[in-house]
Amino acid sequence: MHNTFIMAGVMGWPVAHSRSPVIHNHWIHHHGLSGAYGRFPVEPRNLEAAIRGLQALGLAGCNITIPHKVEAMQYMDWVDPLAQRMGAINTIVVRPDGALHGFNNDGFGYIQSLREAQPTWCADAGPSVILGAGGAARAIVVSLMDAGATEIRILNRTRSKAEALAQEFGAPVAAFDWSERHAVLNGASLLVNTTNQGMHGETALDLQLEQLPTSALVSDAIYVPLETPLLAAARLRGNTTVNGLGMLLHQARPAFHAWFSVMPDVTPELRHIVTQTL
Ligand code: NAP
Repeated sequence: MHNTFIMAGVMGWPVAHSRSPVIHNHWIHHHGLSGAYGRFPVEPRNLEAAIRGLQALGLAGCNITIPHKVEAMQYMDWVDPLAQRMGAINTIVVRPDGALHGFNNDGFGYIQSLREAQPTWCADAGPSVILGAGGAARAIVVSLMDAGATEIRILNRTRSKAEALAQEFGAPVAAFDWSERHAVLNGASLLVNTTNQGMHGETALDLQLEQLPTSALVSDAIYVPLETPLLAAARLRGNTTVNGLGMLLHQARPAFHAWFSVMPDVTPELRHIVTQTL
C-alpha cells in the first residue's frame, strides 16, 4: 500500500460527463489510499502538451477518452501490442523513469462484463454479430478473437468500414451489408451493438430479432440508458442481456491497478453509486 499521494485522471473533450472519477475515487476511498482522480478537459490542439505534462506534474497516468484515443498513441514511448492491434489507447501509465506506456482495456472490460452476466459464456459457442465498426467495435473484435471466437459477422452502416476491419483482422471476421443485419442473426450466440443507436437522444437501433436464437447473449456498449430499446426487446423474448455499464466499470480495474498497485473489484455498491449518476 502507498503512503504517497497518487494522482491520475481522464483526458477528453468534452469530459464533463465522464463517470471515471466516480469509479476511481470510490476505489481510492474504499482501499484507504491517498490520492485523487480528476477530469482534464483537453482540446485536441493541446493533447500533446497535456500528455507531456503528465510526467512533469508527477501524475501516475491517465485515461484517454473521446476524441483522443487514436491521436494519443503517437505520444507514447511504448504501446502495448493489444492496444496496437485495436489502433487506440484508453490508458496511459507513467513509468518511474518518466516513459509513457499506452494500453487499451476496453476489450478486457467488455469480455469481463459478458462473463459477469453469464459465467458459462464461451467465445466459440457460435457466431458473434457485431453492429458498428468504430472504436468500440475494434476493441471488441480483437478481444473476441483473443477469447477464441471462430466466427465474427460485422456490419456497419458505412459498409467499407466493416470491410476494412474484416480485411485487417482476417478470418474469423467477415463483413456483411447493413441490409443483412436482421438475417445474419440466424444461429448467432452473441449480438453486440457498438453503434450509438439507442443511446439517450438517438433513435433506437432498427433491428428485427426474429432470427436470433433466444439462447444468444445480447449486449450493448451503451450505458445511458442502462436498458436500450434493443436490450428491452431482447429481454422480453427471453435472451440474456448485458448493458454497457459492466464494460465501463471493468475497463477501469487494470488502469487502477497500474496506478495504485491494488486490483479493485466491481461491487454492487460501486454499481449502485455509478448508476445513481446516470
Ligand atoms: P464511433 O467510433 O464514433 O462509432 C460509431 C458507430 O455508430 C459507427 O459504426 C457508426 O457507423 C455507427 N452509427 C452512427 N449513426 C448510426 C446510424 N444512424 N445508424 C447506424 N449506425 C450508426 O464510436 P465508438 O467510440 O465506437 O462508440 C460507440 C458506442 O459505444 C457509443 O454508444 C459509446 O458510448 C459506446 N462505448 C461504450 C463504452 C463502455 O465502456 N461501455 C466504451 C466505448 C464506447 P458509420 O461508420 O456508418 O458512421
